[in-house]
Amino acid sequence: MRIDILSIFPEMLAGPLAASLLGKAQADGRLEVVLTNIRDFASDKHCSVDDSPYGGGAGMVMKCEPIFAAVESLRTQNSLKRVILMSPRGERLTQQKVRELAEVPDLVVLCARYEGVDERISDSLVTEEISIGDYVLSGGEVPALVLVEAISRMIPGVIGDWKSVETDSFYAGCLGPPQYTRPPVFRDMAVPDVLREGNHAAIRRWRKKEALRATLARRADLLVDLDIEEKKLLAEIEHETPISEREK
Ligand code: SAH
Repeated sequence: MRIDILSIFPEMLAGPLAASLLGKAQADGRLEVVLTNIRDFASDKHCSVDDSPYGGGAGMVMKCEPIFAAVESLRTQNSLKRVILMSPRGERLTQQKVRELAEVPDLVVLCARYEGVDERISDSLVTEEISIGDYVLSGGEVPALVLVEAISRMIPGVIGDWKSVETDSFYAGCLGPPQYTRPPVFRDMAVPDVLREGNHAAIRRWRKKEALRATLARRADLLVDLDIEEKKLLAEIEHETPISEREK
């Protein structure tokens, strides 16, 4: 899969993209991330990428010409079906959306700055806008990294053990189960016996139940489309949990 990221601060992206699993995914040829500096496509003598807003008001707006030119320069290399603008006005990113995007062979991700982009870029160049949450950052670079890292985890082979992806929060709908490592007792806090007894069926059931318990307490909105076992476990949890302790 290839992802082109367009930004006026590609140096903000290069370091994080080279580290850890993202760096390895690229070294292994599973993911190709290409950084393009939008400023390289500015045509005026000042290399400007922004200008003051029509109608007045605070801040600057990213201009059409360099962004159209930068995206169009990719047309020969990339089918350009999907051009994503990172934007607080966009659709909120979810694991489901990440899984869908991971199936797309080529993505272009546009990072804005200042007050955002000229609306004509949203209207006729961008195919979708994605937000990473209801707060405002100073630029789309960190949101683009969030998107690329989330997508990379869905590419087969990037995470060594696919089982760990399947039990992650949101993948199958629920939050993930609690995890423990050595020592077995730390400051009077013991690891649950079931995890140390080696009964794999019991461990699987315990994990599923505790994942449901965490989801019920923190994100009951995620408890939809449950299978028979999950419904049974949830009934057990509800029986064990006083109404006063459940999410209100
Ligand atoms: N004036 C804009 C905010 C601009 S913030 C507004 O009110 O909506 C500058 C840029 O940072 C945005 O254009 C976008 O590319 C990026 N950005 C900021 N917050 C973001 C978020 N929550 N999700 C995705 N991108 C974001």
